[in-house]
Amino acid sequence: MKEAPIAIAIHGGAGVLTPGLLNAQDENGIHEALRQALDAGHRVLEADGSSLDAVEASVVALEECPWFNAGKGAVFTDEGHHELDAAIMQGVDRNAGAVAGVHHVRNPVRGARAVMEHSEHVMLIGEGADRFLEEQGLPQVPNDWFDTEIRRRQWQDNRLNAGTPSLEPGHAAHRDGQDDPPKFGTVGAVALDRDGHVAAATSTGGITNKRYSRVGDTPLIGAGTWADDRSAAISATGHGEYFIRAAVAHDIAARMRHAGHDLETACHDVILQELKAFGGQGGVIAVSPDGSTELVFNTPGMYRAWRDEQGRLHTAIYAQDDRVHS
Ligand code: ASP
Repeated sequence: MKEAPIAIAIHGGAGVLTPGLLNAQDENGIHEALRQALDAGHRVLEADGSSLDAVEASVVALEECPWFNAGKGAVFTDEGHHELDAAIMQGVDRNAGAVAGVHHVRNPVRGARAVMEHSEHVMLIGEGADRFLEEQGLPQVPNDWFDTEIRRRQWQDNRLNAGTPSLEPGHAAHRDGQDDPPKFGTVGAVALDRDGHVAAATSTGGITNKRYSRVGDTPLIGAGTWADDRSAAISATGHGEYFIRAAVAHDIAARMRHAGHDLETACHDVILQELKAFGGQGGVIAVSPDGSTELVFNTPGMYRAWRDEQGRLHTAIYAQDDRVHS
């Protein structure tokens, strides 16, 4: 009998990533980080683990990697610290958890899962969330543990050159990205396990120089993160304000359920038409219970990795990019 399919895809952020912006050493470092993060989740699935455990494992690996804007390596707020957002959701019963504006949990995605599994709520924010996560016994770090030199420099450049982040297309984070690509890097994972259940997780530091306790799409269920076994698991990256207004992740799933679209059509229509039409930049990764996997973006690049139907591992940065690993 044929084994039930498993599938996994991850992203490390979308943005103005064009060939030549990164040197070869950095490119190789990012491909390797993506490969390792995908493997962390894939190993869980191969051992008949759950898609929930798989997406958590991949996102933890990406949060631990200073290259990406989540966990260690998160961007700075206008006040020079870090406020982290994350969400996780499982498709079997649409149970979900999220944290926003947290300061001390080492792995925000684990915080989101703790909210899902150990509270009666879906989302906790700010200092209350910090307190809950500490009470849950999750590893805590001082806020400056998330600092990296490159993010500090980006923050300082941003303050000098761009001032405050704007909510218009080409806002500070994206504009600066043109000469400083590692600024992007919200991370996410979607997976399908052998029991036919999908899950999604997303984690971010948000946008550089953000103010007023700004929260983007990442921790908002239905905007940046969604999972439903009746349609798909989706994790988004891009200009959060637009993703919220378009309810991107839920819109993809709703087109599948109510209009009968397949995963590819739904992702393409939402990212390349709907979102783009009003200026939203970014992309999604998605898997559906039949094993279909999509990685779609309307920016020049998106850090990403996936397994194809033959089980080969691919990593990519730019639009026309595909590094196959043996
Ligand atoms: N979507 C994230 C936010 O708006 C940022 C990103 O994906 O680059 O917070």
